Amino acid sequence: MLRLSKVNKYYKVGTHSLHVLRDVDMEVADGEFVAIMGASGSGKSTLLNILGILDDYDSGEYWLGDTMIKDLSESKGASYRNKFIGFVFQSFNLLPFKTALENVALPLYYQGVARRKRNQIAGQYLERVGLRDWADHLPSEMSGGQKQRVAIARALIGKPRLILADEPTGALDSETSTQIMDLLSEIHRTGITVLVVTHDQEVAARTQRTIRLRDGKVVAAHEASVSHPGMAAAT
Ligand code: ADP
Ligand code: MG
Repeated sequence: MLRLSKVNKYYKVGTHSLHVLRDVDMEVADGEFVAIMGASGSGKSTLLNILGILDDYDSGEYWLGDTMIKDLSESKGASYRNKFIGFVFQSFNLLPFKTALENVALPLYYQGVARRKRNQIAGQYLERVGLRDWADHLPSEMSGGQKQRVAIARALIGKPRLILADEPTGALDSETSTQIMDLLSEIHRTGITVLVVTHDQEVAARTQRTIRLRDGKVVAAHEASVSHPGMAAAT
């Protein structure tokens, strides 16, 4: 599905350069369900934005399928993004003055699909996330869990092969988080590759594998799970 090789990313902050991703190597196979964990500021969102072709990187390689994603034009980047990737965010990112149905239909609007057709398809996706009866409601009339379902339906409507979710349960209570993870698991079972950034061990435990970031570096699985008393004693 995707592969990063020695990816580095810097942010310019005033006259400084902040090294946010350091030689990141990772590979995600078709159909995997993967969690990305790490402390706040460790580079998780930066990594997800690069994977989602929302942001560029400074060196290394990012392969999405057979395509190297690097220095793409705005329109080429958008075209890969729309074709392959669906996004889910902690803060839902719904348009406040659009109904649930219109929010879900939005990607089809940008594809130029006629209103009647896109509303019909959006209705099917709302049904799939259990919100058929909420089609005409505004986000302000819905709970956090319902808003996240709308966002997930919107992410699915473009038939992505990859869902990137940045702390999708970060604003939800634990019961609602479980329901959202049930939905993401169901999506994964349909064959879509799912990557979830999370702080929550319970969320990560629902996935097949966890990639850990520390200060912009991928921490090897054995380093993350095993403590090193010898090293600690040496310092
Ligand atoms: P995480 O999602 O793991 O909390 P981020 O990827 O958001 O981490 O941020 C990683 C580091 O990069 C942090 O130190 C953050 O302050 C910095 N950073 C993120 N975005 C920007 C930006 N647009 N400009 C400058 N620094 C940024
Ligand atoms: Mg983040």
